Amino acid sequence: MLERGQRGGAPVALQEKSSMPLRFENSYARLPERFFAPVAPTRVKAPGWLAVNEGLGEVLGLTPEELRSGELLEALAGNRTLEGAEPIALAYAGHQFGGFSPRLGDGRAILLGEVVGRDGVRRDVQLKGSGPTPFSRGGDGRAALGPVLREFLVSEAMAALGVPTTRSLAAVSTGEPVFRETPLPEYFAGQDDGEAIAALVSYALARHYPERKGQEQAPLALLDAVMEAQVALVARWLGLGFVHGVMNTDNCSISGETLDYGPCAFLDTYDPSRTFSSIDRQGRYAFANQPRILLWNLARLAEALIPLLDGEQKDIVARLEARLERFGPLFERAYGEVLRAKIGLVEERPGDTDLARALLDQMATDRVDHTLAFHRLNRLAAGQPDQLSPLFQDQERILTWIRSWRARFDGEPRAQALAALTRSNPVFLPRNHRIEEVIAAATQGDLSLFARLRSVLARPFEEQPEHAELQDPPGEEQWRYRTFCGT
Ligand code: AMP
Ligand code: MG
Repeated sequence: MLERGQRGGAPVALQEKSSMPLRFENSYARLPERFFAPVAPTRVKAPGWLAVNEGLGEVLGLTPEELRSGELLEALAGNRTLEGAEPIALAYAGHQFGGFSPRLGDGRAILLGEVVGRDGVRRDVQLKGSGPTPFSRGGDGRAALGPVLREFLVSEAMAALGVPTTRSLAAVSTGEPVFRETPLPEYFAGQDDGEAIAALVSYALARHYPERKGQEQAPLALLDAVMEAQVALVARWLGLGFVHGVMNTDNCSISGETLDYGPCAFLDTYDPSRTFSSIDRQGRYAFANQPRILLWNLARLAEALIPLLDGEQKDIVARLEARLERFGPLFERAYGEVLRAKIGLVEERPGDTDLARALLDQMATDRVDHTLAFHRLNRLAAGQPDQLSPLFQDQERILTWIRSWRARFDGEPRAQALAALTRSNPVFLPRNHRIEEVIAAATQGDLSLFARLRSVLARPFEEQPEHAELQDPPGEEQWRYRTFCGT
């Protein structure tokens, strides 16, 4: 970084290096240079804290004091380089809304490096919104307040819900305005760079799936591993009513974590065709379409692996297709488990998922709130009076469903069944209208709503009667928030 401060031999605006105890141990930056571009974050005028994540800081080895230090603030704002950090923007291609973009890359993200946490997990530490990179394609490289707070809240909620996800260590303001009018709209496979793909496959396997490293066909081992991890992830999303919003291939991670929260939201009313992104006019990334899109994305991954496999092209394709055919049964299995747990069934019996689907079908027909309904099922299962059926219009149908469910549920080992319900059906989720409220207040400089929502969502499975209104679906007056969701 020091070199970057030097122009024409004269050292100007040197960035001070620090002794911050974030211990970087970088591996990605050791890959061939065409995998990334070194880049310096853009300095900002007046950095300030919006939020810090003490829990995550601790995992990364930071004390609360170190996390809140002026030194780290300057570093996260891009005004100073931490010792051991090697800031780079990653190079990649991807499919956006079905069309191939040969040159995407990190246009507003900078990877500082990797830190192995106290839990032994290696994490990328990345700045997002830290200014233009060689991949910004005319974008400003910045992130506006709203999306930053949304990503912070939703990703922390995911972590608390036990769903694999990237997380925010901190959110900082820059003291500078961000202008947003329109959303911004090749890499190795696109360039037939077989050597690069092989290096990447080997890196990804070693880093994320070391237990599969010894397998004979590394590309197929990786495809299997990614498929299984992503299937498990998207099944969890569906169980929670989560709509990612922009499942472009570059937003689906090899590691199987929820990545790049944009116009994402949790369903209020259960509506399988619901979308949240204003640019998704075809409903490509609608709630119920997510498994199909996942398969589509996996097929693009499979295609990228073709140059690495030996044999005739048509045999290779047949082998990859055979692999992808596992998707259907794998997904059915994973989603079936999610559904069974949501209605408190522990032991697998024929007809279980049909029973769960029957409840979902009626929720869709009667336009019932997804989170509220399942939470009320938890209460019913725990022996409380029936508050579930009043949510529905067709009383006979829901009461019949409850009777069938009861007959099946009562045979289950009770403690385990109740535990399954508790961990599957949260009391609190970050509802979209609440996030919009938080953002509106934060824009006026008031972060108290953010703090409250964040603290409630840290314990999503616990009843917190003093915050009960955060459970409520949007009312008439909040209706307008339901279709708006900026990126
Ligand atoms: P995303 O929808 O966040 O996954 O972004 C898709 C692509 O656009 C990625 O290559 C991003 O790095 C890039 N991008 C998104 N927003 C910006 C921005 N404000 N400036 C520059 N590049 C951006
Ligand atoms: Mg992205």
